[in-house]
Amino acid sequence: MSKIKVAELFYSLQGEGQYLGTPSVFLRTFGCNFMCAGFGMPRGQLSEERLAIDPEKYTEYDKLPLVHTGCDSYASWDPRFKHLSPMLTVEAIVDRMQELLPEGKFGPDKHLILTGGEPLLGWQRSFTELFEEIAKRNMNLTHITFETNGTQKLKPELVDWFHSNQYYPELNITFSISSKLPSSGEKFEDAIRPEIIEDYYQVGNLSYFKWVVSNEDDYFDVVRAVGAYSSVLGPHVMKNIPIYLMPAGGTTKVYDNNEKWVADLAMKHGWRYTPRLQVQLWKNAWGT
Ligand code: SF4
Repeated sequence: MSKIKVAELFYSLQGEGQYLGTPSVFLRTFGCNFMCAGFGMPRGQLSEERLAIDPEKYTEYDKLPLVHTGCDSYASWDPRFKHLSPMLTVEAIVDRMQELLPEGKFGPDKHLILTGGEPLLGWQRSFTELFEEIAKRNMNLTHITFETNGTQKLKPELVDWFHSNQYYPELNITFSISSKLPSSGEKFEDAIRPEIIEDYYQVGNLSYFKWVVSNEDDYFDVVRAVGAYSSVLGPHVMKNIPIYLMPAGGTTKVYDNNEKWVADLAMKHGWRYTPRLQVQLWKNAWGT
């Protein structure tokens, strides 16, 4: 049976984007191809906040400190914290999902979210086994969302499985693409990969973009990214993909400073606005 390195597995509300407020099981896999150390920093500077956290002092993931700058999910990819993310069999993961879900079942209002880190790194082959294990237990899975940074190609095995599986004729698959702008500290050319996300349309029922913004420079980068995606996907396809702007801020203080400005920006330019419920309701605590 396949194993997946699991940073977090929890039941919460989807806090962002298209399915905002939907009760969901989140499977946060370990590993990411980025570091996003630029969040919350003056442009061109990288945060060292997470580097000041001593991994030896922690034996539980949810006791780690939150950071104000850089990636707020740092422990889901920084190798220094990998001892806090166990390798679990697909069977053990589904056991835990059954414990977390009311009556042990998914459904149209109880989704599965695969997040990270970057969930489309090495775990794609294990995902097919995971979906089959869920199906064998009759858990009524109807909606899967992949929360991705949009840089990872889908493996042919996963694409084939979605096209030919016997288990889920009605499965609804969503790609929530949060590609990183230069304010993340990652390079535009590395992060905006329109040729990659073309693949997602082969299997997804819905894809949408979700961009973290905090200032005018980010806005201009969103415009540039939309242009880059449009040049490959075509303006007609691009016009039908929802675009969400989301305030930067993994902590309440930073978030509160950004939310109104970002909401106004979304209205002004005719894009959607998404809050971050997990920051508003639970101060972005681990497991939310
Ligand atoms: S892509 Fe997401 S998980 Fe990966 S480092 Fe950036 S913000 Fe963190």
